[in-house]
Amino acid sequence: MDSPNPTTRLSVLLPYPFDAAFTYEAALAVPPGTLVRVPLGKRMVVGAVWDEAPDESVKTKPVAEILDFPPLPAQLMQFIDWVANYTLARRGDVLALALKESLLGTPSARAKKFAFPAADPALPAPELSAPQASAVAALQEDVRAQKFAVTLLDGVTGSGKTEVYLEAVAQALRQGGQALVLLPEIALSVQFFQRFERRFGAPPAVWHSDLTPALRRETLRAVAAHKAQVVVGARSALFLPFADLRLIVVDEEHESAFKQEDGVMYHARDMAVLRARLAAAPCVLVSATPSLESVENAASGRYKKLDLPTRHGGASLPTVKAIDLRAHPPERGRFLSPVLVAALNETMARGEQGMLFLNRRGYAPLTLCRQCGHRLACPHCTAWLVEHRSHSRLICHHCGHSTGVPPKCPACEAEASFVPIGPGVERIAEEVAQSFPTARTLVMASDMIQGPKQAAAAAEAISERTVNLIIGTQMVAKGWHFPHLTLVGVVDADLGLGGGDLRAGERTVQMLHQVAGRAGRAEAPGTVLLQSFAPEHPVIAALLSGDLPEFLAQEAAQRRPGHWPPYGRLAALIVSATDEKLADATARALARSAPREPGTEILGPAPAPFALLRGRFRRRLLLKAARHVPVQKLMRDWLARTDIPKNVRVDVDIDPVSFM
Ligand code: ADP
Ligand code: ZN
Repeated sequence: MDSPNPTTRLSVLLPYPFDAAFTYEAALAVPPGTLVRVPLGKRMVVGAVWDEAPDESVKTKPVAEILDFPPLPAQLMQFIDWVANYTLARRGDVLALALKESLLGTPSARAKKFAFPAADPALPAPELSAPQASAVAALQEDVRAQKFAVTLLDGVTGSGKTEVYLEAVAQALRQGGQALVLLPEIALSVQFFQRFERRFGAPPAVWHSDLTPALRRETLRAVAAHKAQVVVGARSALFLPFADLRLIVVDEEHESAFKQEDGVMYHARDMAVLRARLAAAPCVLVSATPSLESVENAASGRYKKLDLPTRHGGASLPTVKAIDLRAHPPERGRFLSPVLVAALNETMARGEQGMLFLNRRGYAPLTLCRQCGHRLACPHCTAWLVEHRSHSRLICHHCGHSTGVPPKCPACEAEASFVPIGPGVERIAEEVAQSFPTARTLVMASDMIQGPKQAAAAAEAISERTVNLIIGTQMVAKGWHFPHLTLVGVVDADLGLGGGDLRAGERTVQMLHQVAGRAGRAEAPGTVLLQSFAPEHPVIAALLSGDLPEFLAQEAAQRRPGHWPPYGRLAALIVSATDEKLADATARALARSAPREPGTEILGPAPAPFALLRGRFRRRLLLKAARHVPVQKLMRDWLARTDIPKNVRVDVDIDPVSFM
């Protein structure tokens, strides 16, 4: 008997942990990208019609509703497939980065609160210096050409990189297209937003995880409908349904914050390049301290390179000096050398500002018992508890476990026997209060400055000179432009050099060079003092000479022979379980079934540096492969032929940047 309502089958990808699309039926053909509501078990869920052949053999259920939402662009669907394929994530999990059900409600009645005013590229641009103008011309030419191209914009701190790439954004706008700017710490980028608004007369659309659901919903629609022209966002902004994307800028491209470390483990810088290729648009990677990866890509001709070798407006780069802590130690129980104290006093006496940098939140990174040496550790992680004296708490920075300081030592029962070991920014603030009683101090760390409002207030207090001494973690390292800040003191320049991570040296140079770049950005020249026990270390030497290309050349010479990235590829497996024996057994099974193709090498299994994290025991294996090896296929086959018990999780991290 003929069915009274002939139906068509369609594939629907659901934003849940499934790799495959599901097959449904509808009374009429529904184009790919359309968002639909469909039954899944007893629930109704939203998914996207996917551009692939439906399964003709399975029993299907009908689509319940076609949503009133612009269809996902084909480009975005390709991107999702490609990211899943590259990272070995399930496609549904990648789709979830683009599509969360909560975002899809009907347009809010108050949507007019969420206007996306047009950015006006015709407002006056700054008068560009000759090197800036030629960089702008090259980038604008790429935007005009509407072709895929990657450019590394490498310019010293304060050279005007931001001004330059905003002119590339202006070009995309003039051509009626959209632009995406990725920033590593968007919630704190107040000064960027002020400049954007000054240039274009309107704020950009913003995309990050702290937006209210209503604002996210309106932004998503506005991007899809081309009502929002410029999006400034965190890494997940790559998954927005741009109607007409003409340019992607990745600012601070070297930042490891662009790597997502949980769920879908993707590197937003690398995926931005791919997204640009799918959009046939140029991609600009921006940094004063570019990654070795990008520098290599420029050297081999895969990327173009533009240089801005001098600071704007005649400002000179700061003078960097080391303070050898062996020769000039701090007083007992203190952390600032008399040399640094004297320099800070002189700076503040001149009416200028000083900054102390220490990349450690809290009061002290370790608390131990004076009687028996017992150290207070997190019960769920391989980590010490960090004292936060301002909150009277000991906190694990990995799982958030928090407790008061115990009245007695849990090991020897001695009373009031705990002593803090080493400094965090709170402890430096305490020392500053004693050493500089009249200083007007501001501490900037992520647990003290939360969100754009507080960041804006902090920036204003510094610009207006209500404060003259800033103490900060990595939050103060990048982007900021404070004209009166002339002295930067790095409390512990050796921090971050231990550990033996592949990129420890590179990352330390990048971060400290960025911090140093905050000093002397206007007329008054800047000075940077690095407190170190090993001023002869190549990392400190690179900071002193300022010769970053030479440092990267040394790094390259170390990594090339062993095929370490970027001269080879890495992929990590992280095995974790609440049962330690099970984690071990699975890691050993994976070692037995590991690929043995030529050009590959397996490292591990070994306990992860965080052998216990959030209550799970962790083991790591690492595949190292020559560049030509198809790593994804090897990893996929490896996992497919290994029996993974149900209670064990195996995370795949392609191109890992963290080895913890
Ligand atoms: P970078 O991003 O390279 O660190 P910025 O773009 O922040 O440099 O520029 C440093 C400072 O110089 C900013 O205050 C910026 O507004 C200013 N500046 C840069 N180029 C120009 C220019 N051509 N005209 C006016 N001001 C400029
Ligand atoms: Zn913990």
